Amino acid sequence: MKYLGAHVSASGGLHNAPENAHEIGANAFALFTKNQRQWVAKPLTESEIAQFKEACAKYGYTASQILPHDSYLINLGSPNEEGLQKSRGAFIEEMKRCADLGLDRLNFHPGSHLKEISVDECIRRVAESINIALDKTSGVTAVIENTAGQGSNIGFAFEHLAAIIDKVEDKSRVGVCIDTCHAFAAGYDLSTELGFTQVFDEFERIIGFNYLRGMHLNDAMKAVGSKVDRHSSLGEGMLGIIPFQMIMKDSRFNNIPLIMETPNPDIWKEELEMLRGFIN
Ligand SMILES: [Zn+2]
Ligand SMILES: [Zn+2]
Repeated sequence: MKYLGAHVSASGGLHNAPENAHEIGANAFALFTKNQRQWVAKPLTESEIAQFKEACAKYGYTASQILPHDSYLINLGSPNEEGLQKSRGAFIEEMKRCADLGLDRLNFHPGSHLKEISVDECIRRVAESINIALDKTSGVTAVIENTAGQGSNIGFAFEHLAAIIDKVEDKSRVGVCIDTCHAFAAGYDLSTELGFTQVFDEFERIIGFNYLRGMHLNDAMKAVGSKVDRHSSLGEGMLGIIPFQMIMKDSRFNNIPLIMETPNPDIWKEELEMLRGFIN
């Protein structure tokens, strides 16, 4: 089964996210469980939790169809002690919010070395951060997203993600989310059938599909290897439609949330219909 959706708004209350997803005909969705540009959030109330769970049940969304995303402020590989501690605390809070909401995974960007530490040291810190968070929480998998490699972000190479996973103690609660735009911007040319096949052969060899907990389906505004993180609507960017056709026909992408973070919510419904049309 293909679980297809978009990163929908939760404004006005978390229970609005499943409703917004239902309105565009999605059978999956992503959301922020708190304001993504702020460090702290008010704790979830019993009633907020109950309303969210009711809305998910009403529209038929189970945990494996939902991919929450953490705050953009968090840097689990931060070179400075204060930033690292603040990030670890905020990440643990987000993991706990997910658990309270009945969700089983949390998607995050691994981190940035800010040109102050090496890539290897940054990777070590990210893995240590994950180990601490997994130790202090239960039921939620930490889902590392590949990045475009913009600025000093790590996680643009499959080897980075594999190196982080290698250092995580509880491998049953770590996974990855592959963003098609980020992969392309990072230099993985999945715009052709041959390129797509080679990239995901490499993914299988270096990381493994057994760690895949979600995908972000985005076209890319800039060229392959640009390291620029700018998403386009599906078929309107440099990636084109082929990789999305390939994903829809490939059972290795079944039963995980496949989430669009494309820039025009007005056409999400049409984009989802187009994706579904590729399945047969
Ligand atoms: Zn993404
Ligand atoms: Zn992006």
